[in-house]
Amino acid sequence: MEKNESLDILASSLKGDLKYDSTTRAIYSTDASMYREEPLAFVYPADDSDIRQLIEYAHNHKTGLIMRGGGTSLAGQVVGSGIVVDISRYMNNILEINIEEHWVRIQPGVILEEMNKKLAEYGLFFGPETSTANRCTMGGMLGNNACGLHSLKFGSFNSQ
Ligand SMILES: Cc1cc2nc3c(=O)[nH]c(=O)nc-3n(C[C@H](O)[C@H](O)[C@H](O)COP(=O)(O)OP(=O)(O)OC[C@H]3O[C@@H](n4cnc5c(N)ncnc54)[C@H](O)[C@@H]3O)c2cc1C
Repeated sequence: MEKNESLDILASSLKGDLKYDSTTRAIYSTDASMYREEPLAFVYPADDSDIRQLIEYAHNHKTGLIMRGGGTSLAGQVVGSGIVVDISRYMNNILEINIEEHWVRIQPGVILEEMNKKLAEYGLFFGPETSTANRCTMGGMLGNNACGLHSLKFGSFNSQ
């Protein structure tokens, strides 16, 4: 495996994990679609400051960031030659639930079904019921404007 000095420096300053070995790049070269392209590298960011560093790196090195949640997209949305940034491992916390005003503040890697289990404790749920609810993330639903079984009544993600 060829060493990449700038990626090694980036890896050492991130709190999360960065890999660019050939096995990892092969694993993250696809999503639920038929498309395939090996990314430059793969990252599990730990927090917002990691994301900021990644944006800066991508800008300086003229590469792209491909945000990834559950990777259940069907049209190659999570496939590309840049850096795949998977927010599902560490950035998956529910931060605040406002029961009176019916809103929830979350990190983008929260899985829909897990969030709904938590909201059910207060008699609430998130309207669009995407059929991949047990693995799709709220960030991925936002990116796809996801909808589902009850969207005729409750709308799609971006209408919430
Ligand atoms: C069997 C099957 C059934 C499906 N059924 C439905 C359905 O009923 N309704 C429906 O709408 N879709 C459906 N889908 C498509 C997909 O599952 C959903 O759209 C799902 O919401 C995607 O979530 P994800 O976390 O897997 O996103 P990913 O596939 O990881 O990402 C989706 C998009 O969001 C972007 N993204 C991810 N995270 C972020 C972030 N933090 N910030 C900015 N952008 C981000 C990605 O770059 C990508 O463009 C289905 C897919 C499969 C395989």
